[in-house]
Amino acid sequence: MPRFQTISPTDGSVLANHTTPDNTELAQTVSHAKAAQTPWAATSLKQRARVLTKVAKALEAAGDDLVAHVRQETGKPVSEIWLTDMSMVVGSFAQAARMGLKALSPQSLGGPESMRSTLMGRTHQRVANPWGVVAVISPWNYPLATPGWGIAAALMAGNAVILKPSELTPACGEALIQVIQTVLAQHNLPKTLVQCVVGDGQTGEQLLAQAIDAVVFTGSTAVGRHIQAQMALHNIPVSLELGGSCPMVVLPTGLRTAQQLDAITSQATWARCVNAGQSCAAVKRLLVPVSRHEAVVNQLINKMSQLTFDTPEQPGHIGPMISTDQRFRLHRQVQRAVDDGGHITTGGELSELPGAYYPPTLITHLPASANVLQEEWFGPVLIVQAYTSVEEAITLANATPYGLTASVFGEPREARPVAEKLDAGLVSINDVALTHYGWLHVPWQGIKASGPGVAHSMASLQNMAQWKTIGTNHVSVFKKMPWLFGNTCTHQDDGLGRGLTSWMATPWWRFDKLLGATTSMLGRLNSRL
Ligand code: NAD
Repeated sequence: MPRFQTISPTDGSVLANHTTPDNTELAQTVSHAKAAQTPWAATSLKQRARVLTKVAKALEAAGDDLVAHVRQETGKPVSEIWLTDMSMVVGSFAQAARMGLKALSPQSLGGPESMRSTLMGRTHQRVANPWGVVAVISPWNYPLATPGWGIAAALMAGNAVILKPSELTPACGEALIQVIQTVLAQHNLPKTLVQCVVGDGQTGEQLLAQAIDAVVFTGSTAVGRHIQAQMALHNIPVSLELGGSCPMVVLPTGLRTAQQLDAITSQATWARCVNAGQSCAAVKRLLVPVSRHEAVVNQLINKMSQLTFDTPEQPGHIGPMISTDQRFRLHRQVQRAVDDGGHITTGGELSELPGAYYPPTLITHLPASANVLQEEWFGPVLIVQAYTSVEEAITLANATPYGLTASVFGEPREARPVAEKLDAGLVSINDVALTHYGWLHVPWQGIKASGPGVAHSMASLQNMAQWKTIGTNHVSVFKKMPWLFGNTCTHQDDGLGRGLTSWMATPWWRFDKLLGATTSMLGRLNSRL
């Protein structure tokens, strides 16, 4: 039976030994999930919402225990775990319950548009059917918040879930699933509706080779692409939330006053260094006008060098990185940036602490052609780039393969057109985009190499289902359709097709609206039958 260990990022000690399931056990896990999913799919949205709301309460009650697991496996400061992981995992279940009722209820397709086809008195309705068994594969950087949304949304849509947490944070995943299972048992639901399998990428690969019906993957772009390609062979839908190289563009109007300078540098420092820089949507590149470059860099040096490490013995601002491997990877990246012409203005040296701590680091003067600018930077290293025109700022901001989030600071009227030109799934004006993760009704989605997928929001809930459209003909007189064989002439235009063609081209009439409203009403009545 393959085993693996988890290691404390604060001091390198062994935390626990874990056993990974083999193929037979994985097949059993999936078959139990399928058996549990059938009765769950038969429950009403209201019933599911009630269970999810109870899960939110149970997670809140288990908060201290869950936070202790995250603290142990990631070394994050406790206040940060409550602020990001805990509030978000609890919020995910509560909000999925709330939004799910609307997002997943049958949708009537009426309105004037419904008049532009056959005019045969039909109504159409879209109904959401669950995919079946959803595999949620998650990373280590927010080990509760990230899988939390995927699990909550999949359950709300009537699916069973198998979570494969990161091999670096398996206890967090197991503890999360245990709380959910306790609530399921209280509602006489099988615990196997939500299960956890632990292991590394190979276990993830083996899990996805089973009869899984959909995949929610959050992690690196390389692994996401691999999974997407594998699943495409079987038409299995995959939602991908991948890496980012998020730019923060500061316009000249965002740096007019000393107060603005202070606010900009504080936001950049926080959004780069929170979670030890290990956030997909962290501000990874700061773009400032060349005339303000020196002032911005000086303040950043001051602010970043004052951040202290949060260790088990001493409270501080930032915890360790997740592992010494990740720390060395980041350090090598910093060295390559120097080889490419970058200047380190603060940090850049390995800390002498025993764990995976890395100091907040600032890199300036990196040429736009530097290869390292094409990579994701997953640690507390901020790259500052100077620009001479707003057009150049946009070009620099977009010059990476990624497209997760971006932010623009300046006069809102000037910032808005810039926001529209930035290649990102989510752009913030006068706020760092990282904070948007906290708005669960807002779609969290990347474009380019950061997606495709969507978390949070009604859109994500709707993606957890396969939608079926059901059309009903309400007008019995039309049962004998005029286009049936025998009713139409094949060698000449009999007026039917020509009439329909011209009807399609006719501008909207009031008549359309009237009929459309009637059809909508019929559709709504039909959905209640
Ligand atoms: P990773 O891709 O190495 O691993 C993610 C998960 O995939 C882990 O559970 C891992 O065991 C599993 N895995 C690895 N290979 C697999 C395979 N072949 N088949 C199935 N599963 C496999 O990523 P990571 O290092 O854990 O996380 C960091 C990355 O996640 C960063 O790139 C970060 O930007 C990204 N991330 C993105 C978002 C987002 O919302 N876009 C959120 C958090 C993290």
